[in-house]
This record gives sequence, C-alpha cells and structure tokens, in this order.
Amino acid sequence: MTENTGTFVNIGERTNVTGSVRFRKLISEKQYDTALEIARQQVDGGAQILDVNMDEGLLNSEAEMSRYLNLIASEPDISRVPIMIDSSKWSVIEAGLKCLQGKSIVNSISLKEGEEQFLKQARLVHRYGAAMVVMAFDEKGQAETAKRKYEICKRAYDILVKEIDFPPEDIIFDPNIFAVATGIDEHNDYALAFFEGTKLIKQNLPHVHVSGGVSNVSFAFRGNNMVREAMHTCFLYHAIKAGLDMAIVNAGSLPGYQDIPEDLRERIEDVLLNRSQNATDRMLEIAERYRGSTGITKIIDNTWREQTVDERLEHALIHGISDFIEIDVEEARQKYDKPIQVIEIPLMNGMNLVGDLFGAGKMFLPQVVKSARVMKKAVSILLPYIEKQKNEDHHSKGKILMATVNGDVHDIGKNIVGVVLQCNNYQVIDLGVMVSCAKILEVAAKEKVDIIGLSGLITPSLDEMVYVGSEMQRAKLELPLLIGGATTSKMHTAVKIDPTYNGPVVHVTDASRSVGVVQALLSRDRRSAYAKSIRAEYQTMAKKRYISRIDRNRITIGDARSNRSKFEWSNYQPPKPTFEGIKVFDGYPLQELINRIDWQPFFTTWELRGRFPDIIDDPLVGKAARSLWNDAKDMLKQIIDNKWARPRAVIGFWAAKSDMDDIRLTTDNGEFVVHTLRQQIPPRSNRANLALSDYISPNGDDWLGGFTVTAGKEIQERAKNFEEIGDVYNSILLKALADRLAEAFAERLHERVRREFWGYATTEDLSNDSLIAEDYQGIRPAPGYPACPDHTEKRTLFDLLDAEKQVGVNLTKSFAMWPAASVSGWYFSHPSARYFGLGKIDRDQVEDYAQRKGMSTKLIERWLASSLAYDTEKSEIKF
Ligand code: SAH
Repeated sequence: MTENTGTFVNIGERTNVTGSVRFRKLISEKQYDTALEIARQQVDGGAQILDVNMDEGLLNSEAEMSRYLNLIASEPDISRVPIMIDSSKWSVIEAGLKCLQGKSIVNSISLKEGEEQFLKQARLVHRYGAAMVVMAFDEKGQAETAKRKYEICKRAYDILVKEIDFPPEDIIFDPNIFAVATGIDEHNDYALAFFEGTKLIKQNLPHVHVSGGVSNVSFAFRGNNMVREAMHTCFLYHAIKAGLDMAIVNAGSLPGYQDIPEDLRERIEDVLLNRSQNATDRMLEIAERYRGSTGITKIIDNTWREQTVDERLEHALIHGISDFIEIDVEEARQKYDKPIQVIEIPLMNGMNLVGDLFGAGKMFLPQVVKSARVMKKAVSILLPYIEKQKNEDHHSKGKILMATVNGDVHDIGKNIVGVVLQCNNYQVIDLGVMVSCAKILEVAAKEKVDIIGLSGLITPSLDEMVYVGSEMQRAKLELPLLIGGATTSKMHTAVKIDPTYNGPVVHVTDASRSVGVVQALLSRDRRSAYAKSIRAEYQTMAKKRYISRIDRNRITIGDARSNRSKFEWSNYQPPKPTFEGIKVFDGYPLQELINRIDWQPFFTTWELRGRFPDIIDDPLVGKAARSLWNDAKDMLKQIIDNKWARPRAVIGFWAAKSDMDDIRLTTDNGEFVVHTLRQQIPPRSNRANLALSDYISPNGDDWLGGFTVTAGKEIQERAKNFEEIGDVYNSILLKALADRLAEAFAERLHERVRREFWGYATTEDLSNDSLIAEDYQGIRPAPGYPACPDHTEKRTLFDLLDAEKQVGVNLTKSFAMWPAASVSGWYFSHPSARYFGLGKIDRDQVEDYAQRKGMSTKLIERWLASSLAYDTEKSEIKF
C-alpha cells in the first residue's frame, strides 16, 4: 500500500536556530522564556513533533540543547509532543538524548561516514529507546535520483533491522528534498525523484516512515513567500499521496490546496512533476505576478461558490467574506420555512465553528472580528423579515451588559470583547463610553442582564469601578462583575474592587479569555465553585500585598527631599527654546506621521502576540498579522486620500524654575505651578529619590515645555459611521489606527521640538526604531503615568496650552482626553532626565501635596489610590 492513511504529522520547525532568525536571536540573547513561548505556539498551532536545532557556530550547542530541552520538560503542555533532536553533531544529539524522557527522535544519522559509525550511533539511539531519522546519504554523497534514494535506504534498513534488530517502525527515512526551478536542468527532476523514491521506500521497506524538510523545495523563490507557501502545499499534496508520513513544515502558514489559484497551481505542478520543457520559465513568469501579493485568501478562486447555500454561508463566516452575503442569505431565506431559521441553523453553525476555532487558537482576533462583520450583515438583511421579540433573545446563552465607565472614553478593548462574546452566542448590550453608574444599574435591572462588564483605560476609571462595585452591593445584586481594560489589573481588582461586592468579581485579561470566564460564570454547575476559587485567589493576593505593604519601609518625605537629584546647576546652561508661549499645528501632514508609527502596540491591541516586524512571518500568527497589517495600510491610504483625519497639536514653552517638588512657571498669562511627587523608596546604591522637578534648574533660567496632540474628532466620527453600518472590523481598525497616529504625532513633534523648536539637538537624526526606543535627550512624561500619576495636573497643562480651544481636545471629569486618540505631556530637556516610577508614597507627602495644590487630601488620595501608588492607612481589605 502506498497511499498514506491520512494521519499526516506536522513537525514544528520554528525552534531551530538555523531556520529561524528570531529563535536564534532569542537563544543567543538567552531569552529562554520567549524561546519557550515559540515551542508552545508551535504546539498550540498543531505541531505534533517539535524539531529543536541549536547548530550555530557561536553557540555552545550542547549546552543550549540540554538547557532548552530541560525547560521544555518542565512544561507539560509542550512536552506532551515528542521532540526531534536535530543536529549534525553527534555530541549535541547525545546531550539532547540525555535530557528527554518520553519518546524522542534523533535527526539524523546516515551512512556518510560508513557503516561502522552508522551502527555505533544507531545502537546508542536504540539504547535510549528513541526513533531516528536516517538521511539518504552514503559514502558517495546525497541521493538525488529515486533509484539511489531507495538503494541507500534499503541498505540502511537491512543493516539496522537485520544486524542490530532495530525496530523498523522507529526508522524514519528522509530521502532529501532539494530545490527545484533553480534554472539548472539537472534539478528539474528533484521533486519527482522524492515522490518516486518515497513510493519505493514505503512499498518495499515494511513499517518504516518517511519524512522531509519541505521548505528546501522552494528555495529558488526566496523573498516570495506567497509562491513558496503555495509550492509547499502542492508538494505536500503529492508527497503525501506517495506515502510521506511527516514533514518539517511551517504548518500555520500553508494555504489549502484548493485555495491556490488554478493558474498558479498548474504551473507549480508542472515544475514539481517535471511535466513540461519550459516549466521553470513559466513558473518564474507567474511567480512575479504573485510577489508581494497580500496572501492567498485575497485571490482565492471561487470554487466554494459551487457548494450548498449552508456551506457557502459557513465559508463566508469563517473566511470573513461579505461579498456574496446578500445573495446567499436571500437564497437561504427561500430555502428555510422561517427567516429566523437562517440565523438559527446555518449562521449559528458557522459562528459556533468560528468560536471553536478561536478557542482552539486556530483563528485570531482580527479574523474573528471579520467573521462577526459578516454575521452582522447577514442578520441585518434578515431582520426586517423577523418579528421583533423573536429575534432578541433567541438562542442567546446569556445577556451581558458592557460599558466604559463614567469619565472614560476608550472603547477599543471593550468593543473587541463584545464582538468575541457575540460570536459565542451571548447577547451583548453595549452602553458605549462615559456611562454613569446609575445608567448601568438601571439597564441591568430593566434588561435582566446576567453579567455586567466594565471597561476603562485610565487610572481614575479604576476608582469609578470601585464605586460601581459598591453600588451593585448596595442594590443587593448578585450577578457577576467583569473588569477589563488597559490599566485594570488582577491586583487592583483583588485589592480594591473585589472587597466592595459580594457577587463574583473577575478580572479578565484579554478578549480570548472572556468566553471561558463567562461560560464558567453562567454555568449552573460550575458557577459557584468557580467564583469561590477566584475569590480565594484574590483574597490571598490582597493579603500578601497587605502584609508586604506593612513591611515595606518608606523614608520620610523630608529625607527623600534631602536625597533628591542634585545637578551642578552652576555649570549648566539650560537651552532656550526658539519661542515662548504656544504654537498651534492644524491639519498636520499625515504622510509625516505614518513613518513615525510604532506598530508594536497595534498588534497587541488585536491580541496578536509577537514582536513587530517578526510577527509578520510568525509561523502561528503570521498569516493573521500580515493580513491585518495589509488592511491597516489600505486603511491609512484611505485616511489620507479621503482626508478622514485632521491631526491638530499645540506645543508650548514657559520660563521655569524649580522650587523643591514644584515647578514655577512665568507666562504671559501669569504664574502657574506644576506640582510633582517624589519617590519615597529607601534609596539603593546612591540612587536619588526622584521627582520630575529635579530636572528643572532652581536658578530661574530654565524652561518647561508641554504638548497636546490629537488625531482629531473627524476620524472618531468616521469610525462611528463604520459602527453604525455594522462594520465592526473597520470601526475597530480605524480607532486603533487613530491611536497609532496620535502616538506617532507625539513622537514626530517631540523630534521637531528637540531639533527645531527647542533646538537643543539640531543635528539629531534617528531612525524610527531609535525614536521608539527613546534614544534621545529629554523626556515627555504624561500626567497619569508612573512618574506623575496624578491625572489632575492635566488641568494645568491644558490651561497653559489653551488646549480645548486650540486643538479641540477636552478633559472628562476623570481627566480622560476626548477625542480618545489624543496624547499630552510635559517636555523636559535636561540630559539626565529619565522616566521613573513613583512607587509607594506616604500620607505625609500626600497631605503636603494636596495643600500645595489647594485640594482636599481626600480627593488627592482618591486619585492616587486608583493607581495603587498610595494606600489609605486603614486597610479596606476584608479577610
Ligand atoms: N511608541 C509608543 C509610545 C507610547 S508609550 C506608542 O506608539 O504607543 C511612551 C510614552 O509614555 C512616553 O513617551 C511618555 O509620554 C509616557 N511614559 C512612559 N513612561 C512614563 C513614566 N514613567 N512617567 C511618565 N510618562 C511616561
């Protein structure tokens, strides 16, 4: 029998220092945690064996192999798959064999150094109970033809099985995959030789397996990933037919055989099967056409259109294609008795599949949001045909109220969670942003919701969440409260929110976790045990923190001030800005901002894990990341072409003088005081107890700058338009890009400030990476961030800049900026200025600070408590 029985095994290839630049970097920089993550991603992504290779000249390969395999061994979810120890050095293989307990595979041994050496190594492998890859390689070299591939493998087989009784099922032959379409005629038969050699091996050598490293075959098309991936799929298709059992592949990035455009597939197969004289030329010709193409899915042929209507709807949902949804929904509506059944049967089935794939890590957030867009569109087409009440509650597994709390305007994360929950058949009532506690409780009661989910991005929102929790308690509610958003944390939830409310309180870190949490909380069987375990965990955390807080000694604010940073101001001439007062920019050129975008946070927003730009080629998320990035670039083009954004900014410089922890400014509009807070951590190794005021000279000849930038309200409105037509994907995409543009604007302006407007670094010329890494003189700390956690200072900044009027950015009662895609901060020019964290401070300083600001201590306490920088003396923690 030559046909493969359908249990093809993927071998993960990314944990290989010769095959992956990223992995090599991680190992050589000893970032083992992240390196381990790669293994996990491979396993999660479906790798059934992991190939580990440490063959790199500069590494101590033996030591790295042992270390990495030992790390894997301690991770049960990784070590459940067998490891293939891949090395051309026997000492590395042995080092690896010593670490592994379960079944392992040695990759590889061969007859290239003769039978004696071959047998010696095989015996050792056998003693370790391992399987092994045997290359079709002998004293004369690597086998290129089918005949020689088979002959070498047969010879190896006979020696192994007959002479040392090696179990044939533990032999994996690798008959060498070589590159085709290289332009050298002798290479034209290489793929075919592999297929035929494999067939001969599987037919004549009982029980053995055949494997190969697939990416070699497409080596001639380096740089053209799309064509390479298509070649790999076609190669596997034929090789598996010939009997290939397993292969080292980047499985996550392979298109389906059916998804490859007909014309491309035909030419690839001409090459692989060596079917025509000019196959290589014809392949090269078409390869150019697909170079840089945005991925197979964009140009797939429409054969799926020939399937049944239910199958088509499912396909459209999974692939996020809305192009045919009107026709298909209409056809389905004719087919089913009642329009509601179209939702209940094919659409729900499709969405369930999407939910399952997402849950299993086989689909990623951007793809799921696209699926949701298709679903929304389908439902909106059906809605007019469905009686109202029927549609509402139908099939929903529960009702969830979601809101961004009062004072906060950020909703990207909340919207994403909402979409994910909807995809999993939960009904979501989204109240939007700036939602008062009263409104939340009112709607929760009226709609009889099952769960309330709160979101917030800035620290004051944490305090608002504490308030909502206590109000829920006052109303004697019992339904679960979910907490999410960028500044929320498990610790804050445990210490501050959980104690306010007797019902279950759960901090949800990201959208992909939300479904599991909601499921547990709404399951009659699991709810109580789950809630109990979470509460127990939070109480332990809170208790530990309480104890560590008691133990932690802080120095007095007086001592901290004595230990402030003291620069030699007499030897220092503060740079003078080119102007005094403010300068406004309106309709700032977008092109200039696009080059300054930091893409990393963009992928984080979409919960695609990995470093940019490597993430684009990541085996697991690369496909989703690349497609998202392409959509983002298309959207940026639209933003420019259609003038969807009107970036505005105001910057200013004022004469400044430090006065211990305050900075006194003299302006045309009178005196202003910027108040800063000082670290009270016991100083380690001569470190100073910092406050931002330390970076300003006390001599009255210094300057402080400030800025507010925004991507503009126009772009938010455009995003809202998308939302209104049910296009959640583009709405979230646009908002995420607006954030990127605002940050890029802050970066670009800061650069110009240093070079032109303040002019203390006229010759600075940094790459975008260096700018993101902040390799320059000066800082732009933002009120609300760790060095200056008091958000209320934004009021002073905005007054100085006249920001509301000049650029249309407003502050909410929690000092969030509206429009959401806005950034503000101070400019410090001092060469020693650094970002730092305030850490814990004591009540004495808070009282003094409140007094300087003319605010009540209680109020300041509230602002600071939300950032956990400050704990009120009496513990609010209940045990
Ligand atoms: N490139 C990132 C930049 C934002 S985060 C992006 O595109 O999203 C970095 C900014 O956060 C800094 O420029 C500063 O404004 C603020 N920041 C970081 N650490 C800070 C600290 N310790 N104190 C005050 N502000 C800080």
